[in-house]
Amino acid sequence: MRRTEKSEVNCPYRKKCGGCQYSEQLSRKERRVRALLAGFGEIRPIVGASEPLHYRNKVTASFGFRNGKLISGVYERATHRVVNIDRCFIQDERADRIIHVIRELCISFRIKAYDEDSGFGLLRHVMVRTAHATAEVMVILVTASPILPGSRNFVEALRKKCPEITTIIQSINTQRTSMVLGQREKLLYGRGYIEDVLCGLRFRISSGSFYQVNPAQTERIYEKAIELAGLSGRETLLDAYCGVGTIGLIASRRAKEVIGVELNAEAVRDAEANARRNGIENISFYANDAGAFLDDLSRSDKKLDVILMDPPRTGSTVEFIESACRAKPERIVYVSCNPETLARDLKEFKRRNYKTREIIPFDNFPLTVHVECIALIQRAKS
Ligand code: SAH
Repeated sequence: MRRTEKSEVNCPYRKKCGGCQYSEQLSRKERRVRALLAGFGEIRPIVGASEPLHYRNKVTASFGFRNGKLISGVYERATHRVVNIDRCFIQDERADRIIHVIRELCISFRIKAYDEDSGFGLLRHVMVRTAHATAEVMVILVTASPILPGSRNFVEALRKKCPEITTIIQSINTQRTSMVLGQREKLLYGRGYIEDVLCGLRFRISSGSFYQVNPAQTERIYEKAIELAGLSGRETLLDAYCGVGTIGLIASRRAKEVIGVELNAEAVRDAEANARRNGIENISFYANDAGAFLDDLSRSDKKLDVILMDPPRTGSTVEFIESACRAKPERIVYVSCNPETLARDLKEFKRRNYKTREIIPFDNFPLTVHVECIALIQRAKS
């Protein structure tokens, strides 16, 4: 079929590999997007990743015990049994190595893995976040109690073995929860955040702030999203679910004014620091629920020309969509990491006379079932 051929054109290895499954994977994802979303608007060919391996910049390893041995890796599907992982095809290889070193150090420092059932033990998880453009590396040690015995020596030994680490944080998670990070943290080494560069701007990322896991592919997604926003320099743009402000800050060069809204206060602090860091003054950020914020805004005198929205996997809300349509923007660009909730939300837009023009799938998460999409939604002339 032509469609399949088209998506294969995007596979960077198609001429060399002679039989790997990446192009097949891409067409499968494109078919899934088509099946869910073709009724809303034109589906463009999926954009494949140029680096489908080892792209993931955020790696979380859970710690546990198996047959008296310390292990670290992921939970077995639908359980909390740790499967030991030494290397993974999608994760940044630096992160895998650091986690391995930490496991060895825990043995020599007699640091025990936390046991969820009994509540004994100390180390729950290790999270490693790497920046692709600056090579900065953050390590977060998630512990079940505030006391990390010998932490100074531990940090020193870790830095000696892994000099690429630029900051180390202890996150204290005393709750019986499946959330990885705790409420409190202690800075053990460095600045407490990493910086990365996306589309020519520099971004600070703190431990608890969302940051796209595949930055190389994210640059292409952002460029396309901003192109679809059709900015001329005169618009007021809302960047909803803005995280550390990436999309809005990158788009600010082409807009009159940008307003960013994000629920996580730590991410909003990063976003404000990122505006200052990049000398951008036509942007302001608000720590709030996007729906509640837009509900207020849509009842004020403020005119919005374009809305860019990038909600989590659960999608947006009827409150947000209702308010977005009430604000009467010319265009809405919806960046989605879940085509199912995107379909649900596009239906709500359609009911309010906002029609989907086109949908572009991107392979932002190679070797997984996940697929990212950008949808351009426009007000139908009535
Ligand atoms: N646009 C950003 C972040 C996208 S991820 C980027 O590309 O990096 C989705 C973001 O929505 C997360 O930062 C999450 O904290 C935020 N979020 C989740 N629920 C929200 C809500 N109800 N209101 C506002 N932001 C929310």
